[in-house]
Amino acid sequence: MNNDKCNPFTRDLIFKKYNGHCAYCGVEITRDTFHVDHIVPLKRHSYPPQNVSALNKIENYNPSCVLCNTSKNSFTVDEWRNELLNKMKILNRGTKYTLLKRFGLVKEVIKPIVFYFEKINSHG
Ligand SMILES: [Zn+2]
Repeated sequence: MNNDKCNPFTRDLIFKKYNGHCAYCGVEITRDTFHVDHIVPLKRHSYPPQNVSALNKIENYNPSCVLCNTSKNSFTVDEWRNELLNKMKILNRGTKYTLLKRFGLVKEVIKPIVFYFEKINSHG
């Protein structure tokens, strides 16, 4: 989301939502540089047209690092989770990645992707 669409008060509330952490990967974010993600994404040119005002609400905002926000783009949370798993398949088609794995420089971990906000929310 374009950061200047949020007023400073709302932006501050979003920043505090996960105590200054990205809602997705959990990395510490800064007030100046974090992105405001739409959990249910705004999709340009969607048909039927979306109810944009319903999506531009604090409940639909998550604080995000630049990397996660850019990667999530206009995916829903579950679409993005699948997309991340798909990136692993793409990596495994590459010779550099395969070679690094063979020499033990990269170790692949197969596990479900649980986003930071899901871990936090499940604890309480
Ligand atoms: Zn992140």
